Amino acid sequence: MKNIILIAAPAAGKGTLSEMLVEKHNYAHISTGDLLRNASAKGDELGKKISEILARGELVTDEIVFELLERRLQEDDIKNGYILDGFPRTLSQAQEYDQMVKKMGIDLGIVVVIDTKYETLKKRIVGRVLCKDCGSVYNTLTGVNTPKVDGICDKCGGELYKRSDDNEESFEARFKTYQEKTAPLIEYYKEKGNLFLIKGEDKEQMLEEIEALLHD
Ligand code: AMP
Repeated sequence: MKNIILIAAPAAGKGTLSEMLVEKHNYAHISTGDLLRNASAKGDELGKKISEILARGELVTDEIVFELLERRLQEDDIKNGYILDGFPRTLSQAQEYDQMVKKMGIDLGIVVVIDTKYETLKKRIVGRVLCKDCGSVYNTLTGVNTPKVDGICDKCGGELYKRSDDNEESFEARFKTYQEKTAPLIEYYKEKGNLFLIKGEDKEQMLEEIEALLHD
């Protein structure tokens, strides 16, 4: 399958779309946010440094992100195709990534922008809760995926929690960072000729639109 780079504002639907592609098409899902949260959970010197940056909603340094990503891209499961979620976040990351895939003999694939309204994004972030045990995602504000019992996972009964950066203040900071640093990537990939746009309001429509691109 074609490798996919997803470009989208925070909570535009990258995680949901990735989950569907993993289930239906056996994609490997690589989220740099997850790689960073896992590294930060180790609690060592590097982990503490990462946690502080995450809590402020700022970007982690390229050096740290590339080290984690390069390690991840050496695993076997990426051979069937992988989705990059949350990376690249800046023009410099996109340029360095071009060099990295060339060196590693990996195909760049297609770049997909998810277009989602600002108000939708904010509700998705501020209301988002996740299961501690199975990672399922719910929302208490949007009316979509509301947990049946408050605080409990419908699927496995695990406890639901909020990511520490899922609050209004951090959302505003992350959205501003997206507009300033990530949105310019759209122009970069448009010029390369491998950029596509899909709508992010409805998950089934999102899947349909991306599947059409994979079959082209
Ligand atoms: P996400 O889970 O993609 O929303 O990312 C959560 C946080 O991880 C972001 O607010 C950044 O602090 C950090 N992060 C994720 N991906 C990157 C990246 N490619 N470069 C720098 N920081 C990142």
